[in-house]
Amino acid sequence: MQIKLKREHWNIMRAHVQAHAPLEACGLLAGKNNRVEKVLLIENQTKSRVKFRMDPKEQLEAFNWIDSKGLSLVGIFHSHPAGPETVSATDIEEAAYAVTQIIWSRAKGDWIAYGFWIGNKLVSEVTLEIINNEQP
Ligand SMILES: [Zn+2]
Repeated sequence: MQIKLKREHWNIMRAHVQAHAPLEACGLLAGKNNRVEKVLLIENQTKSRVKFRMDPKEQLEAFNWIDSKGLSLVGIFHSHPAGPETVSATDIEEAAYAVTQIIWSRAKGDWIAYGFWIGNKLVSEVTLEIINNEQP
């Protein structure tokens, strides 16, 4: 399984998690057919280093925007500034949407991201394919 995103989407997420570290940061990915069209940045209401809860008002506005554009929710991302590089037990427990989960973590000072699919409490990896901005 894989999800496609543009380099600019990658950069927007990376800048967002960097700007909020050492707190966890989060956001939504809108698109079609497992292809990201838009990154929606959401504030982490908990302002925590080890967990996140999307600001409900921003989340609702984001869902309304996604609907208004005829897009779907294709992914959720959040950061683990202090690790781990994978989904946590809490992430698995609280996974509320059947979409790709992207986890940003820091390895040797730089950010990396991995994709995961959580279903029935089971985790499988999702390949993040970066496509060129020019690609239709
Ligand atoms: Zn997490």
